Amino acid sequence: MPQTNSIYVAGEWRHGAATVENRNPSDLSDLIGEYGQASAADLDDALAAARAAQPIWARAGVQKRHDVLMAIGTELMARAEEIGRLLSREEGKPLAEGKGEVYRAGQFFTYYAAEALRLHGDLAESVRPGIEIDVRREPVGVVAIVSPWNFPVATPAWKIAPALAYGNAVVWKPANLTPASAVALTEIIARQDIPKGLFNLVPGPGAAVGQRLVESPVVDAISFTGSVPVGRQIAASAISHMPKLQMEMGSKNPFLVMDDADLDLAVAHAAGAAFGGTGQKCTAASRLIVHTKVHDAFVDKLTKAAKAFVVGHALEDGTQIGPVVSAGQLAQNLDYISVGQAEGAELLCGGERLERKTEGYYMAPAVFAGTRNEMRINREEMFAPITCVMKAGSYDEALAIANDSEFGLTAGIMTRSLARASHFRANMRAGTVMVNLPTAGTDYHVPFGGRGASSYGPREQGRYAAEFYTTVKTAYVAAGAPE
Ligand code: NDP
Repeated sequence: MPQTNSIYVAGEWRHGAATVENRNPSDLSDLIGEYGQASAADLDDALAAARAAQPIWARAGVQKRHDVLMAIGTELMARAEEIGRLLSREEGKPLAEGKGEVYRAGQFFTYYAAEALRLHGDLAESVRPGIEIDVRREPVGVVAIVSPWNFPVATPAWKIAPALAYGNAVVWKPANLTPASAVALTEIIARQDIPKGLFNLVPGPGAAVGQRLVESPVVDAISFTGSVPVGRQIAASAISHMPKLQMEMGSKNPFLVMDDADLDLAVAHAAGAAFGGTGQKCTAASRLIVHTKVHDAFVDKLTKAAKAFVVGHALEDGTQIGPVVSAGQLAQNLDYISVGQAEGAELLCGGERLERKTEGYYMAPAVFAGTRNEMRINREEMFAPITCVMKAGSYDEALAIANDSEFGLTAGIMTRSLARASHFRANMRAGTVMVNLPTAGTDYHVPFGGRGASSYGPREQGRYAAEFYTTVKTAYVAAGAPE
């Protein structure tokens, strides 16, 4: 199979000396393509081109930036079906989710198109007479974006859109597992009337291309989403040249089900958030903390719901859960099933590899009951269709368990009590709290992020993104006396 154009540097597509195979996790006989890997020279060219293009883009003005972002967003939305199909084919999420993700990516671009026009500054009186002060936001410069495979279009979109809206240049290292999505998004951006080198795609192994990118002194800011160990490694590597850092990392999201909850709704929300996207979401509900009074009824209903999910080929009608993304991820998931059992958790359903018409990485959604918060399956991010139930005798106990984690991304509570809901909202240590809603499922126009080991640096999304993608300049002007 001929190599797919997959390296985009200084306004030109390039081939790589090395390639990676991109195979469909729903059907391993389906080879999507051979994708080139950027070399150190490609990366260095991209960085130099980005550095040169950034001031040209910053001077192009906000109307231009608005128009370019609007065009990208509009095209993504119009082509959500086609690009969503490609995304689902290579990542494995059901087609409806793939299409939804691409549409959402379009919304990030149209939202930031408008935000480009809304970048206001401040005026201040000086404490010294005759001096005026203004405070403006300027582009931060060259932004390195390192993204994961689980939302291969939406995650880069919510980073690239504000980066470009606020006048920056971008060098993007996508996840090597999902190169087709990266190429599809880049093709749309590359067709816009933007300076050559403003936007660059440099695929390749994280440990090589990614590492060289984050170590480069050309980079002014790094936005990363992925695992905690890699996030920490990037921060440690980058610190010698001190770029701005924005990191969204792991999670272990708690979901509290109180004795006054609507139990059927609680089960639907828990199951949807635990198993949607094959559990490969940083917002997945992975620790279900259930009041003793409703525990047995909840677990019974949850197990039935988990068994009822249709696991199958991502592009087949009726599929609710697609395959796991890769052989490595599947092996890790199955290992966590053994870990849970060895720790004494009770596996109520699922947890085994499944066979389907086509050979793929299918896994039955798993529910562990009788778990304790100190177990590894409740401490470590599994990124798997596995959820763990814990009992709590009271709301206070449930909240204490929920807060006993190094992570703090999202958290949810199911209750009819306004007092409990308000207390939870105030006292849950997480960046995002949900009341009578699943832990997964967020909007595109408000900030997203976490606390503790889940996040580091300024928030992503909404107008809060300006904090990261701009730098503040304070100007003092002494006008002098009129002539
Ligand atoms: P990683 O954190 O390993 O990778 C995320 C991105 O970082 C990828 O583009 C990767 O490249 C890149 N990368 C890896 N090493 C470096 C490095 N040294 N310097 C710069 N960039 C680097 O996540 P994975 O995709 O491998 O998933 C592994 C685990 O991470 C999952 O099981 C899950 O627990 C967690 N994860 C969490 C996410 C979240 O949103 N919370 C998202 C994705 C993963 P490449 O993979 O192409 O080599």
